[in-house]
Amino acid sequence: MSTQLKTQPKVQKITKDKNPLFDLIILGGGPAGLTAALYALRAKLNVVLIEKMILGGTVTSTFQIENYPGFPEGLSGMELSNLMQEQVKKLNLEIKWGNASSIKKVGNQFDVQVDGKAISAKAVIIATGTEASKMGIPGEDKFRGRGVSYCATCDGPFYKDKNIAVLGGGNSAIEEALFLTRYAKKVFIIHRRDELRADKILADRAMANHKIYFLWHSTLKEIKGKEKVGEIVLKDLQSEKLSKLQIDGVFVYIGSKPNSDLVKETVKLDKKNYIVTDESMQTSVPGIFAAGDIRVKHLRQIVTAAADGAIAAEAAREYIEKLQ
Ligand code: NAP
Repeated sequence: MSTQLKTQPKVQKITKDKNPLFDLIILGGGPAGLTAALYALRAKLNVVLIEKMILGGTVTSTFQIENYPGFPEGLSGMELSNLMQEQVKKLNLEIKWGNASSIKKVGNQFDVQVDGKAISAKAVIIATGTEASKMGIPGEDKFRGRGVSYCATCDGPFYKDKNIAVLGGGNSAIEEALFLTRYAKKVFIIHRRDELRADKILADRAMANHKIYFLWHSTLKEIKGKEKVGEIVLKDLQSEKLSKLQIDGVFVYIGSKPNSDLVKETVKLDKKNYIVTDESMQTSVPGIFAAGDIRVKHLRQIVTAAADGAIAAEAAREYIEKLQ
């Protein structure tokens, strides 16, 4: 199956003199944003999607997706993202590249500041997702890109026959640790408890992999090296003892934090800064909707992000119709 984009989606740079009133602004081009765009465009809304980096979001750095329905053999995050883009491209989605910093309600419309310029619409869907959490330990920033990584798909091939540590016990950590065994000699999974949070199917696969070693109830205290990572300092959380391990790379998968700064003064957030919505993805401000990993929810998956996007687009359409 070829999933290469044959043509790129319509892309437009933001210019000062062009400020039309859109029906809907979608912030973020991951599965939630792209699905929202698909449904909104099919409802004939005048839509613009704003993305700061790459379409597809964090999904693009996932090596293999095995739980998105319709793909029994699985597919890569890049392939799935390209297919989603292809679908909205057929409907001529307008995309602007930029960093949205705030949303302000002005009368019956919303002004979104993107790189210092306002883009206006009758409704907004926030689908800005999450970003990887940092460990906040000595050596993390110093060796970032020189042995410390947050993306196994991007950096894994550099670690052929090397020893790697993966921090975390969730789906991301286990999935990416399994991916890294393609290259590495040994992969040490460092987890703060003695039970994985990851789905059982992944946990079983990791347990059965002869290249994977588990360091239970342990955490990282420091990353050391000269030019590159050479050693990590571990702490056993039961005995409180410190130990050292010679290692060539550290991959960090300890969860993520929501990209909700742009609305922290605007809509209701929970204690962890995720956006609170009702079942129709409506936030505390009528006309502003949220979809995908950015919102308070039970299960953060591509399939639930896509579902959120569809619901948010439909709710936005109803909201816009009532304005008229
Ligand atoms: P996650 O599920 O929140 O797991 C984070 C892991 O890091 C947990 O094991 C946690 O330990 C550990 N951790 C958190 N803070 C830590 C710290 N300061 N020091 C050491 N360890 C720390 O995050 P995720 O794995 O990135 O997944 C995010 C969401 O995406 C989840 O909903 C997940 O199911 C979903 N996802 C799904 C798939 C899939 O279905 N194939 C793949 C990737 C991600 P504790 O367990 O002790 O809390």
